[in-house]
Amino acid sequence: MSKIFMEEARSIEVFDECDILVVGGGAAGHSAAIAAARAGAKNIVLLERYGYMGGDVTGGYVIMVPNLTWLNQSYVRGLQEEWFTRLSNIPGAVLGAEGDEIGSTDPDVIHKWEPIWDAVSRVEEVPKRVVRSVYFEPNQLKIELDKMLLEEKENIRVYCHTWAAAPIVENDAVKGVIFESKEGRKAILAKVVIDATGDGDLFAQTKAPYAADSDADTRSTNTAMVFRVCNVDYEAFFRNNQKDPSAFGKIVGPLKGMLGHLIMPLPTQDPNMVWFNNWLGPFDCTKVKDLTATEMLVRDKIRDIIDFMRKNAVGFENAELYDIAPQLGARCSRRLQGEYVMTMSDFAFHREFDDVIAWHSTICRINDSAPIEIPYRAILPRGVENLLCPGRHISSDNVAIDWLNLIPQCVGTGQAAGVAAAVAVTDNSTVHDVNIERVQDILVEQDVPLPRHAGVDPALTELCEEHKYGLYTKLAKLAAEDPEEFAKYRQP
Ligand SMILES: Cc1cc2nc3c(=O)[nH]c(=O)nc-3n(C[C@H](O)[C@H](O)[C@H](O)COP(=O)(O)OP(=O)(O)OC[C@H]3O[C@@H](n4cnc5c(N)ncnc54)[C@H](O)[C@@H]3O)c2cc1C
Repeated sequence: MSKIFMEEARSIEVFDECDILVVGGGAAGHSAAIAAARAGAKNIVLLERYGYMGGDVTGGYVIMVPNLTWLNQSYVRGLQEEWFTRLSNIPGAVLGAEGDEIGSTDPDVIHKWEPIWDAVSRVEEVPKRVVRSVYFEPNQLKIELDKMLLEEKENIRVYCHTWAAAPIVENDAVKGVIFESKEGRKAILAKVVIDATGDGDLFAQTKAPYAADSDADTRSTNTAMVFRVCNVDYEAFFRNNQKDPSAFGKIVGPLKGMLGHLIMPLPTQDPNMVWFNNWLGPFDCTKVKDLTATEMLVRDKIRDIIDFMRKNAVGFENAELYDIAPQLGARCSRRLQGEYVMTMSDFAFHREFDDVIAWHSTICRINDSAPIEIPYRAILPRGVENLLCPGRHISSDNVAIDWLNLIPQCVGTGQAAGVAAAVAVTDNSTVHDVNIERVQDILVEQDVPLPRHAGVDPALTELCEEHKYGLYTKLAKLAAEDPEEFAKYRQP
């Protein structure tokens, strides 16, 4: 047993009091704070341990948002598309198919987009088509996320460099949070707390059940340290790999040997730059030793990797290090086991939820990426009140999490959490008893399409029905006919 040191009890200052306290300013937390303010909440605090917003997205250089559309329709909108509408005014800040190109099966349009990872669909059962997957410049997004908060500065107080250490819980209800900072340990009291830390830092210290057993064959158990490389001709690299199917393996195999973990170059919004995504692990992004190993392992190999690419990869002859992400990439650790736990079956069968808060096309190939419904209960913890948990620690099993913790789902569940918190505060209700129809109405007003809602274009549902909700794949048939065999499926 480890040695124990007993800390003395102490009184701490109440630094602030608010209606809604959002902890974590990543895709989920930033969206929650903005959505709450736009839904009418006037007394919101946002705590963030680093000096900027975006989390993995801006700090971890995760610069690609996949599958915002299905066939020719846009299902993921709201704050997620607002990021790109805003960034489209900045030259060179975003890249993604738009307008008539979306859903196109025209060979010329496919040829244009196929170098861009996930910009063309990938199931065998139907012809390839163009998908709106958006690439962006992370530092430009960092600036834009600040601007969105500044527009709401009357309603949102942002405190950076504050690390939430523990929830304040009384009678199984969260009443606030204790944080650490250069000013010491202090408290913030709140009517509703939103845990958007990504690792359930808060819910894990309440009675709420959670799991931390992601399947070792999923990407969720891997950490990363992303870096960008410039002076590259990415299209030349891609076309060469297309011409010679063994070329990619001849690059990725030795790179993996060098790092000891999978690592590969992927495109960015700039045709002359790549990001090196990597998958280290299984590593746990809540464990100090694994976090340190991730940082040191990758940085130690960056020069060797670029040198190898210069000598061996078409298009990389003049490659140079551009920059290294300011923070490590965390994919998944603790997962909420909330009022509803999402599973692979939610992708393999068409499930409708009365409390739907997001209707998302995802990267899941079981249903050809058709939109699936995410219920409010997937961000609602069991056994504790006044707490909502959107983002990459969403309630799901250890496999489905791989398709649910991507940026669009983190933004979407964050936006819904913010609106739900605002409605609960306005109505003086609990988050468990919140008026879900009101939440859904406000989400639709905030440009979030929801199924069966009178304010949403029926063409979205008609398209799903016409195409059987994507359930024409071999995997969907397997799920229906042989559930045991289906349970072994892991997305490559
Ligand atoms: C390398 C990598 C590649 C990926 N590739 C893709 C991809 O191509 N496309 C895609 O859509 N998704 C991808 N993902 C997943 C996606 O980026 C994340 O799941 C998503 O961005 C998580 O958003 P979040 O807000 O839930 O969590 P985070 O981004 O982790 O945000 C949590 C925020 O909370 C803050 N925080 C944490 N703990 C505390 C605390 N105790 N107190 C105060 N603040 C705290 C953090 O600093 C951070 O700002 C990838 C992830 C990684 C790591």
